[in-house]
Amino acid sequence: MFGTIVWVAIGLLLVRYIWKIGFGMLRGMTTSLPPPPPTGEMRRINVRYRCSVCGVELRLTMAPDEQPPPPRHCLEDMDVIVPAE
Ligand SMILES: [Zn+2]
Repeated sequence: MFGTIVWVAIGLLLVRYIWKIGFGMLRGMTTSLPPPPPTGEMRRINVRYRCSVCGVELRLTMAPDEQPPPPRHCLEDMDVIVPAE
């Protein structure tokens, strides 16, 4: 009787173990993107860009360096909007 309980317990542990490994593998496959760099390495900036083709504007607040290459929109590099002061 005692032996049966032990085996059932071992079986349940084994099932849990395999279940965990399965989920770990699934997660490993779906999240293959590299982690973002730590925030300490990012610079807080405030640059605005405008698309010269369609006129869309966007603001960049974080970048790995202070003068990041301009993003592209409508297959063209966006123009930097110099803030009027
Ligand atoms: Zn555009």
